[in-house]
Amino acid sequence: MARIILIQDGHCELQQTEYTSFDDALEELRRRALILSTDPPNRAPCTGWRKCSRSYTLCEFEKTQTPPWKLWRYAKIVDVDPTGATWNPNYERDWAQERSAW
Ligand SMILES: [Zn+2]
Repeated sequence: MARIILIQDGHCELQQTEYTSFDDALEELRRRALILSTDPPNRAPCTGWRKCSRSYTLCEFEKTQTPPWKLWRYAKIVDVDPTGATWNPNYERDWAQERSAW
């Protein structure tokens, strides 16, 4: 059984990178936190992207052959909006708690 981590946001993305470790996914969010909210990949796929924001959450799923994948845990990590990035100061604690549902 493989567990994978996805970066999720309020917007639905068609293309998703699957990460195998929390550190790899976090590294990607550290990179995105330094990018303007109006530049890719932070630019939101909606008409209001100039003022829109991202609320990045990491979600760990058990990847099975058939959906739906079981969600093992999630933690809100960082928001990126036109004023900059705001990190959740408790993301490590949140991630340490396995929750099986939203
Ligand atoms: Zn939006």
